[in-house]
Amino acid sequence: MIEIVFLGTSSMQPTKTRNHSAILLSYEKENMLFDCGEGTQRQMRTIGVKPAKITRLFISHWHGDHVFGIPGLLSSMGADNFANKLYIYGPKGTKKYLEHLLKSFASKDIIPFEVKEVKEGIILDKEDFVVEARELKHSITCFGYSFIEKDKRKINMLKAKKLNLSGPILGKVQEGKVITHNDKKINPDEVSYLVKGKKVSYIADTLPCNGADKLARDADLLISEGTHLDEISEKTKKYMHLTVKEAALIASENNAQKLIITHISQRYKDTHEIVEEARTYFDNSIVAEDFMRVKL
Ligand SMILES: [Zn+2]
Ligand SMILES: [Zn+2]
Repeated sequence: MIEIVFLGTSSMQPTKTRNHSAILLSYEKENMLFDCGEGTQRQMRTIGVKPAKITRLFISHWHGDHVFGIPGLLSSMGADNFANKLYIYGPKGTKKYLEHLLKSFASKDIIPFEVKEVKEGIILDKEDFVVEARELKHSITCFGYSFIEKDKRKINMLKAKKLNLSGPILGKVQEGKVITHNDKKINPDEVSYLVKGKKVSYIADTLPCNGADKLARDADLLISEGTHLDEISEKTKKYMHLTVKEAALIASENNAQKLIITHISQRYKDTHEIVEEARTYFDNSIVAEDFMRVKL
């Protein structure tokens, strides 16, 4: 099961109810944090997850509202006796930015970590999932990320029983291999079926672009920034962000199944108009709130 918790949903200025950007995606043994706005570690305490539980950090870009939480988070992980290595992914320059950040106060060997500066494409390939990076179009280099669960083959036990299949031979079926049993060839599709893996994507700060389309394509869940309503789209464009309308169009044109709008400007005190605008262009839309939890 994939579980997502929104730890911060504001844009540039945090508000009483919205913290700077951060999204926690948990899957099996992984707790992956996408962006780490100021105060993220405290938001984690509120949902009862210790910072030391984080396994990977994905940084979209180095604007303050997405990274100001990093030194605090790493310090707390150290204080929690984090024993593993934290993998940090981000655009070119991430190593340097991090180095500077950790030199700006009296820090000493906070935790072991390894930085991977990413390029377009698959940046992480594990047994059950991959993570893809897609370049976006913002005022500085910015990446969006897709978490893509791999398809899994499930055995149809009734059919397997009928053919007297059990033990290691079923393992071969699960790997999608053609097997021979009692001198008869059996195709894996005769006794098993494929369960399609889920795709969850995060479109960070951007103008509409190819990368955003690729992230959205066939996503089961699309999390996208939607900083302003369309009525001030000139301003949105100037700062190289998406309007809610644009985010909804990206979702609908790329066959996403569900859209959650985040990175909301402080100017919106309630979400009525945002929901209304999103649903005009893509029906299955909601607006993120801090601590909102989604399972799929
Ligand atoms: Zn931002
Ligand atoms: Zn930005």
